[in-house]
Order: sequence, then C-alpha cells, then structure tokens
Amino acid sequence: MIQPFRPLREDFTLMRCGLYMTELLDAATRDREPVPELFALLRQGLEQLTETSTPDTLLRLFELQLLMLIGYTPQLFACVRCARDLADYETAFSPAMGGLVCRSCMTNKQQAVTLSPQTLAYLRQGVMSGAESVPLLPDDAEVCQEIETVLHQHLTARLGRELKSYAFLHL
Ligand SMILES: [Zn+2]
Repeated sequence: MIQPFRPLREDFTLMRCGLYMTELLDAATRDREPVPELFALLRQGLEQLTETSTPDTLLRLFELQLLMLIGYTPQLFACVRCARDLADYETAFSPAMGGLVCRSCMTNKQQAVTLSPQTLAYLRQGVMSGAESVPLLPDDAEVCQEIETVLHQHLTARLGRELKSYAFLHL
C-alpha cells in the first residue's frame, strides 16, 4: 500500500510542521469561502516536507504563499498607512497594521517591531518572487528567528488568533 505521508508520521519534527501547516490552513479558511488553491498548497507543502532537509525554509515559504493567497501579503515597500514609498532605512513593521510604517504615521498604539536589513531583504525577495520560491534562510540563527517571529505576528494579527500548534514547533 502506498503511504505518501509516511515520513511525517515517523519523524516527530516533520509531523509538528505538518500539524502547523494544517492548522494554519484551517484558520485561514474558517469564515471564508474555501479557496481550492489553499488545499493544493497544503498538499504540496506536506509532500515537500517529506523530502526536505530544511523544514524551516519550507514553513516560511508556506506562510508567505498562504498570506498571498488570502490577500494578506505584508506591505514591505510603502507605508501601510499613508502609502509613501519607503527607503531602505525605514524598517519599522507593524503586525497590527500589516506592514511597514513610516515615522510620521507611527504612533505608540501601533506596536511596531524593528526589522533587521537581512530580514527585510528576505521578506521582500519572497514577496517579489510571488513566493514561488523563497530564498534559503540566512545562515544566522538570530535573523532566522526574527523572520519567523515577524511572519508569525503578522499571521496571527491577520487571522485573529494564535495557533495551538505553533508552540510545539520548537519543542
Ligand atoms: Zn506613513
């Protein structure tokens, strides 16, 4: 018998990643018309998980693709509030507002996080490629963590809830 997702059941790390992807899809489709592309995305993500040696890269790719499909691409090139073009040094990202915020639009309420240039470059590249392929994560654990955190904050702000499986990703 063919068991396409067998490695997921045998490898605990991969299984946790698969659960996270599944919960993300569930949260993204709740209260919305089901988008067929989302289910194709999940199937592809689970298949790729069984073959990858870098599950983190795949998770970031999955998150970006999902955000684009549901119309929540993070705004990384202009101020999310006043639409002013942002130069590279503007790196304040507001998960609540869904993108970069310029200094004049920034108020205390919009708890923004400051992105490192590497994180901003990575996210911009992912968004510009249409998330068809996301660059490999940088060889820097701190930057990888920052990319993960900001994407996660953006996702939970857009979806309106925390994901239970997220806490298990780093056990
Ligand atoms: Zn602005």
